[in-house]
Amino acid sequence: MATEVLSSEEAQVAQLADQLIAQHPPASTSAIAFLGAQFDAGLAWVHFPVGHGGLGLTPKFQKIVNEKIARAGGPNSYARNPIGYGMCGPTVVEWGTDEQKRKYLRPLFTGEEIWCQLFSEPGSGSDFAGLSAKGVKDGDEWIVNGQKVWTTLAHLSKWGLLVVRTDAEAVKHAGLTAIVVDMHGPGVEVRPLRQMTGEAEFNEVYFTDVRIAEAEMLGNPGDGWRVSLTTLMNERVSIGGAIPQQGSGSIAIAVKEWKALPEDRRDASTRDELMQLWIRAEVHRLTNIRANAQRRMGAPGPEGSIGKMESANLNKDVYAFAIGLMGADGMLYGSYEMVRPETAMGYDGVQKAFLRSRANSIEGGTTEVMKNILGERILGLPGDVRVDREIAWNKVPRN
Ligand SMILES: Cc1cc2nc3c(=O)[nH]c(=O)nc-3n(C[C@H](O)[C@H](O)[C@H](O)COP(=O)(O)OP(=O)(O)OC[C@H]3O[C@@H](n4cnc5c(N)ncnc54)[C@H](O)[C@@H]3O)c2cc1C
Repeated sequence: MATEVLSSEEAQVAQLADQLIAQHPPASTSAIAFLGAQFDAGLAWVHFPVGHGGLGLTPKFQKIVNEKIARAGGPNSYARNPIGYGMCGPTVVEWGTDEQKRKYLRPLFTGEEIWCQLFSEPGSGSDFAGLSAKGVKDGDEWIVNGQKVWTTLAHLSKWGLLVVRTDAEAVKHAGLTAIVVDMHGPGVEVRPLRQMTGEAEFNEVYFTDVRIAEAEMLGNPGDGWRVSLTTLMNERVSIGGAIPQQGSGSIAIAVKEWKALPEDRRDASTRDELMQLWIRAEVHRLTNIRANAQRRMGAPGPEGSIGKMESANLNKDVYAFAIGLMGADGMLYGSYEMVRPETAMGYDGVQKAFLRSRANSIEGGTTEVMKNILGERILGLPGDVRVDREIAWNKVPRN
């Protein structure tokens, strides 16, 4: 039998993970206590600095930790706080001051403080750099006014990663500033937006004369676009870059539905369709493994957009197939009563997953925009038409 040879860093990470599990058995430890101990051991994001939830290693070792904890039945920070864990944590660690890192990262990781991402606005989604929520300086505070939309989990969030326009005379990308906002502070109003699943996992958020201390900025005034790129690159990887076990995830659900069919409905052409999807799921998984290997030493790049795009297309096709297998039962849906879910993206049956999957090619950047990124940054095709690139934001015609 071949014996796996671990590098000393891998062995160190594996040993720390074993110790964590032995000292805090998941069966008898609360999720918050376990995740707190995981953070303190540097096993939250192993690539983060020591003292801020990491060990200063390359991100590839995180898999060792996650697999051991999952096998032991331990909690998962992503499931509790998906936007915080996947996107806001990596942004705070890259752009935050030491004080911000100390203040925010641990409770973010344990899920005691949920985070949301306040980027999209009614008039700026794909063209998020054109946003108009405004921040005006008043002494050592920003006063913020404007509206954000599609804000996942804002109703549960303690903190929001907010991007506002602080210089309307600069070109659109240059006039933005990123700030951490207290979602429970005066002037912040969160209203539910109901999706076709019946759930309202996202919201519209209104800011009326909200005062935010200057010290809550991530980076400096005008850095908002670069800060956002850190968030968006991590978002794409977080949504589409997972490396699941072979045959797991949505394709496993399709296979399960297939196996549940009576013998006379398992015809060759449906089986062929299932196999095509299974192959695509495997190709997607292998592509993510390759992208992960390329990313090992640094921040995620355009390959995150490939994973994001294909995970959306695949998920939609797999659930459309699975619901087709269910025949008329696929139309049975529990209730459309509005529900405020405790987390986003939870699985709750094929019917809901089918409806929810329609959002996959919109959230985190649309498939069309991913194609633009791939065309320009990977294939070297001519760029998209951008007429407002060199014009001061307040001179760009808009309705
Ligand atoms: C479930 C869900 C959760 C979300 N959660 C959050 C969140 O937590 N925080 C947040 O800030 N936002 C969130 N969003 C918003 C999301 O990021 C935007 O919906 C997305 O970026 C698209 O923006 P838009 O809806 O304004 O569409 P638009 O940008 O108006 O696009 C409309 C259509 O035009 C196409 N299009 C636009 N520009 C181009 C182009 N240059 N080339 C080709 N086609 C183009 C698009 O692909 C799309 O088909 C969420 C969205 C969904 C669906």
